[in-house]
Amino acid sequence: MIIYGSKMYGKSRVVETWGYCDSCGAYSKRQNYNARKWGHLYFIPLIPDGPRVRVLYECAKCSQGLHIPETEVPAMLSDLCQTRDNALNAILAGQKEFNKNGEMASCTASLASAVDLIYCLCGEDHMGDVLDALQTAGQNYAYYLLNGESLVASGKLNEAADSYSKAVECEPEEVEPLGLLGSILLDTGDFEGARGIYERALAMSSDKLPVLGILLTVYNGLGDSDKLIETYEACLGMDAELRTDKKFVKGYKKACKKIGRQPMAL
Ligand SMILES: [Zn+2]
Repeated sequence: MIIYGSKMYGKSRVVETWGYCDSCGAYSKRQNYNARKWGHLYFIPLIPDGPRVRVLYECAKCSQGLHIPETEVPAMLSDLCQTRDNALNAILAGQKEFNKNGEMASCTASLASAVDLIYCLCGEDHMGDVLDALQTAGQNYAYYLLNGESLVASGKLNEAADSYSKAVECEPEEVEPLGLLGSILLDTGDFEGARGIYERALAMSSDKLPVLGILLTVYNGLGDSDKLIETYEACLGMDAELRTDKKFVKGYKKACKKIGRQPMAL
């Protein structure tokens, strides 16, 4: 048998982080590194296939990641440093949103993703300095949110959940930390904890359908058929197109059958 194909070779500047994979959804260890794809024969690299790249967020579970040509990395880093500085300064000035390339964006979410991406691109870790600046300025809400993001990237989900809980205590009216905390509780199978968080998010949110979608998973995990059916029907009342969504309708009918209830006419 002839073994041939393409593979990444010359891996260097490896940085490891943790996070949620965009492809398979798993929370897993991720590698970031420089390399080049080569066509190989019996695993001997023969011809380069494309330019040298920085591989980002390569998931340990499904091996998917992003490939950025090395030549584009310096410009990306410069943009990200600008975003990090602008977002941090806006927080220190007491703002929740700032102007990011012409659009208003969340300071804390932009700051967290910029610091994480800078680390994954070049291995420079600015999170400690950012957390110090926030703590010194008494910006506790932003501190606990960013600290949570940093703990998620270090593989410490339980500690991250504690930090997000403290962010919720600082700003009970903000939906952002509820979503971050809820996704960890769901991921760790704590459906009872997730129920409290998402029911609270539902009451606060102006866009209720996505929250109801998550509550379907929560009530299903809890085996609470009455709440599950009620939530399916609330979703159907908000979006008529769900009546033609086979997977959704199947889930609804199954929930009704389980407790011997007649589903509504669809
Ligand atoms: Zn994956």
